[in-house]
Amino acid sequence: VPTLDTAWTVRWIRRSAEVLATNRAALNTLDRDIGDGDHGENMDRGFQAVLPKLEGLADETTPGAVLKLVATTLISTVGGAAGPLYGTAFLKAAGAVGSAESLDAAALVALMTAARDGIVLRGKAEEGDKTMIDAWSPAVNAAASAQAAGSGVAAVLHAAADAAEQGAQAAEPLVARKGRASYLGERAIGHRDPGSQSTALLLRAGADVALV
Ligand code: ADP
Ligand code: MG
Ligand code: MG
Repeated sequence: VPTLDTAWTVRWIRRSAEVLATNRAALNTLDRDIGDGDHGENMDRGFQAVLPKLEGLADETTPGAVLKLVATTLISTVGGAAGPLYGTAFLKAAGAVGSAESLDAAALVALMTAARDGIVLRGKAEEGDKTMIDAWSPAVNAAASAQAAGSGVAAVLHAAADAAEQGAQAAEPLVARKGRASYLGERAIGHRDPGSQSTALLLRAGADVALV
């Protein structure tokens, strides 16, 4: 049964950095429409700061140690709303996988569930508040369903990425109840939440590097 190892975790973070750099302007544009225009900049800065630290990892490191490194780096470099939220997500994800050397589908679901729960704990958003939770929660639900149906890690990752993209799109018609977009009232309607979009990109990155 294929599992996800430290090498996958590193590939996920590298691919995320690459995709966030490519989407920096697009995420800024989304955030310009219903926020302050910096979400692409924030995410790109944070993930670029992680890259050199990945080079210094010991050979015997674990997925959890990589996730923790991402967490501390995002917390110290991203700022704004997304820094502490994604930082907490990666920190809780690290805690959920502990010192395991590889992750099976159940561990992967635990990782994503802990990430989502960490964001909720920190930001108090519910599904439907038009935040990144609107991408994370459907992703977690789809991942859990796929795992319960016997899917392996790659299929669980793809199910999560698909659901995150659908969730980001499904939240477009909503009014925001958390974050800067909540100040706009009905003017947020019809716009995609930038954090939902970055979450969809991160989860797609994880799926894309599932098999090499
Ligand atoms: P800032 O709003 O401080 O400029 P960013 O632009 O980097 O921070 O991130 C904005 C994103 O953060 C939003 O698109 C939304 O998805 C997410 N966000 C904001 N507040 C919350 C919250 N309370 N809970 C969950 N996500 C939130
Ligand atoms: Mg912003
Ligand atoms: Mg800002």
